[in-house]
Amino acid sequence: MAAQIIDGKAVSAKVKEEVRQEIEREGLEVGLAVVIVGDDPASRVYVNNKKKACEVCGIKSFEYALPAETTEEELLALVDTLNADKNVNGILVQLPLPKHLNEEKVIERISPMKDVDAFHAANVGKIMIGNYAFLPCTPAGCMELIHSAGIDVSGKECVVIGRSNIVGKPMAMLLLHENGTVTVCHSRTKDLKEVCRRADILVAAVGRAGFVTADMVKDGAVVIDVGINRNAEGKLCGDVCFDEVAEKASYITPVPGGVGPMTIAMLMKNTVMAKRIQSE
Ligand code: NDP
Repeated sequence: MAAQIIDGKAVSAKVKEEVRQEIEREGLEVGLAVVIVGDDPASRVYVNNKKKACEVCGIKSFEYALPAETTEEELLALVDTLNADKNVNGILVQLPLPKHLNEEKVIERISPMKDVDAFHAANVGKIMIGNYAFLPCTPAGCMELIHSAGIDVSGKECVVIGRSNIVGKPMAMLLLHENGTVTVCHSRTKDLKEVCRRADILVAAVGRAGFVTADMVKDGAVVIDVGINRNAEGKLCGDVCFDEVAEKASYITPVPGGVGPMTIAMLMKNTVMAKRIQSE
């Protein structure tokens, strides 16, 4: 069986167009502040892509590029200023931060109503309860891709490889909210291959090229590849051995062009949601 490819570029373009139309229709003034500290090249690319998406959607973007030696006090002071700024509906601090800055402290300083990444403990707690305004962008993007393919999660065996706070754990929670039977795997999981082979929906968020091989995948499974890696030739790739897994899966997301573009589209959606919450 050759899998159908779920086209993240197309789905993300659709989500962004819906956001653009919503903003235009209602004449909303929406602003997103993106803070980048230091000169990590990958972070720079992400920030530029977020700016471009803002332009497409009609969201004002405010970029704050701070030098690597910025102190915690300076960064927290900027967050305070942005929290108070009525033109700023969403605040995103691009991670990772340089080592001398405490990421948790910085995230906790962002007003939960402007926390469009949904990393603040208050928002994480709401996701756990199932009563949320913002969903973390990457897992929300994965769910959107699953829905776009018409896949019903209810009752399905779902296996998530990875348990990070930004991908694995919230992903498991979103699948659970849709009545999936969810298993979360990590580096201490025994018999990983056997666990993965049970999955109707397999989500890989490990960060290792070529990690998921065909022998780990059940015939007809839906495979969502969150990983962003470089292979030996320096080419962008996911966690899944795409060619061999595509032979067994029913649906698969490619890298690039799968989950990546969705993350940014969901950020745009969250920013409009932030505007709405703040206008209530
Ligand atoms: P982390 O490094 O925080 O988490 C990786 C997870 O993989 C950990 O839970 C770890 O387990 C698990 N893991 C590592 N080795 C193994 C193993 N041998 N067997 C089973 N589990 C293992 O990464 P993130 O969650 O932040 O990101 C994961 C990937 O997704 C990365 O490639 C990242 O670049 C990508 N990403 C993509 C995004 C997108 O927009 N497409 C957005 C965010 C991330 P343990 O907890 O035990 O250490």
